[in-house]
Amino acid sequence: MKLYNMQFLIAGFILLLTLFYHFLKQRRINDTNNGVFRFYIIIGILDLFFDIVSTILMSGDYPEKAFETRIILSVFYIFQVLLPYFILFYAQSLRNCKRELLIKTMKYLSLPAIVMILIVIANFRNGYIFYFDPAGNYFRGKWYYLVYFHAAFYGILTLLGSIYHLNELTTQKFHAICQFLFIEVIAVGIQAATGLLTIGFGISIGILFLYLSINNPNSYTDNLTGVFDKNFFQHWLQDQITRKKSIHILAIEMYQLKQINSLIGSEFGDQLLLQISEKLQSISYTGSVYRTGGDQFILSSNTIAEYEKQRNELQEYFEQPFKVGSEFLKFPSIICGVIHVAEFSDNDELEAYLEYLISLVPKDNQTAMIQSDQKTMEGFRYKQEVSRYLTTAVEQDLFEIYYQPVFSAENESVVTAEALSRLNHPTLGNIPPDLFISLAERNGLICDLALLQFRRVCKLVKDHPQLLSILQNIKFNLSPMELVKTGHAMQLIQIIREYQLPPDFFQFEITENVTMQYNRTLQDSIQIFLNNGVSLCLDDFGSGYANLNTVLKLPFSCVKLDRTLLTDICTNPQVATFYESIVRVLQKLHFLVVSEGVETERELNLLRSWEVDLIQGFYFSRPLSSDDLLKTLSLSK
Ligand code: C2E
Ligand code: CA
Ligand code: CA
Repeated sequence: MKLYNMQFLIAGFILLLTLFYHFLKQRRINDTNNGVFRFYIIIGILDLFFDIVSTILMSGDYPEKAFETRIILSVFYIFQVLLPYFILFYAQSLRNCKRELLIKTMKYLSLPAIVMILIVIANFRNGYIFYFDPAGNYFRGKWYYLVYFHAAFYGILTLLGSIYHLNELTTQKFHAICQFLFIEVIAVGIQAATGLLTIGFGISIGILFLYLSINNPNSYTDNLTGVFDKNFFQHWLQDQITRKKSIHILAIEMYQLKQINSLIGSEFGDQLLLQISEKLQSISYTGSVYRTGGDQFILSSNTIAEYEKQRNELQEYFEQPFKVGSEFLKFPSIICGVIHVAEFSDNDELEAYLEYLISLVPKDNQTAMIQSDQKTMEGFRYKQEVSRYLTTAVEQDLFEIYYQPVFSAENESVVTAEALSRLNHPTLGNIPPDLFISLAERNGLICDLALLQFRRVCKLVKDHPQLLSILQNIKFNLSPMELVKTGHAMQLIQIIREYQLPPDFFQFEITENVTMQYNRTLQDSIQIFLNNGVSLCLDDFGSGYANLNTVLKLPFSCVKLDRTLLTDICTNPQVATFYESIVRVLQKLHFLVVSEGVETERELNLLRSWEVDLIQGFYFSRPLSSDDLLKTLSLSK
């Protein structure tokens, strides 16, 4: 009777049982991959179990149990056949392919395993895999090595399949598969060379490895709140989309969290988050809670009824003051509801849509609810289309420039003109500049767009040099991002040089919020403009948060008062006094003052009485095409 060393098998068995317990106990995603993984652990446990029992039977002196031993050993061999097949299944389930396609592929690929199982069953009669002599001694049959060939076949298929579908797997997952296969090869090698029963142990180590690198639910939970994290949400959503599940979500944007963290402290903020995550978990029945960003939670549900219930509870919850420690405070948030999220093409699209919905709600210290509907969807699609079209527009230079003349308040002559970009879409028509400029900023296209447009302005001046004597300058808007991009300022100067134009004929307008991001590159850009003679104008003064002190830090020669400051100046004496004093202060500081957005004669008269320098607005002129500008300036018919 041969004696086997079973320590490795027992260790492997205990390891797999512990791992299985952990895996089941943890919160995890019920996707195909985790499903296959769970099944794989079960097969692994059974394989080791039958391995141990058959080894005990074969090690002891049980000739009278020969029949039972044969059955148990056959069951063990069947599991030995199933394991390699399921590792192929597992590797394939890591791909982002449709569940139906996966099952279909795996059905075909199961044929060799089925044949092998039949061979194991037939072994009962023919003893081709193994047999026992009348004394109860175990012997390998003449086809014994088929079991190894079979395992090698699936191992190689797993490797080749993973290489073939590498773009659908991540590198991390591909490496995990390779390492799993490597562990198995080593385990088989040791068993073949030494006779120690290391294959079963190798399987459990391999499974542990997969658990740690791919299927560990802990790596998907948020450290602070213990709910699922963003990674998990993306993974889960992708699975719902692939399976076309009917799923609804509520996203909670806690837009005041940053402020609370910096004012009261992040410990306080953490406590608030914990409290909220507990509440969210208590109101989620069929779905789950996810923390998809520092200040964003998502709640999912499987039925509309539950979605509606959650929505009402959430709204009520966020309208009440929160009690943290002994403090009470208001914590207004935006709640976005989207039903049937599986209709989105991927996580990125849903994320962009949520961002869009949030942008539609004013952040005015109130809890607000916004639900996706046809109108919001159309708005979102419009924005997406514009975003796509922008790339084409920059590539093919499809923009135009309009010029809004700016008038002297004193004698109503045109002193300067502001260049304003225009973009026309073949089906959507004119796209609002505010929109395409902000999208260009977000898509990283703004600098290219600005270079194209500035070139256009220079070309107009070059073609009509009389402009140089009629106008003091031309105003050109610069986005904050253009100032912080290294080298961009110099590129603008180069264009002026290329057209051989005097740099002091250009004035760049910079919005007020730039003055808040006072950094090194910005300083360099400003210096380049000044050294080359280009002047600067502070745009939209009074619309943001900059105070006079920050304004004084930058060398502007001109300040443009924002259109919103004009609201009510004709009816409210306090507003009027405020406007007038700003004009006085700025002029005392030697800035040229431009009033923007003047639409009525009453406004004009007031501004004139306060001795504002320049007037820009629809009252005098809307932005004009270059031809119309030239006509207005009597430079063409
Ligand atoms: P902005 O620089 O404040 O430009 C003035 C905006 O106010 C223009 O809108 C102009 O048409 C509008 N406006 C002028 N007078 C009146 C008025 O009396 N009443 C009203 N209601 N509006 C008036 P527009 O052309 O739609 O441009 C919007 C914004 O888009 C601009 O605001 C500017 O921030 C940005 N923008 C436009 N072109 C460019 C560009 O080439 N580069 C950059 N970076 N931004 C640009
Ligand atoms: Ca401007
Ligand atoms: Ca402005």
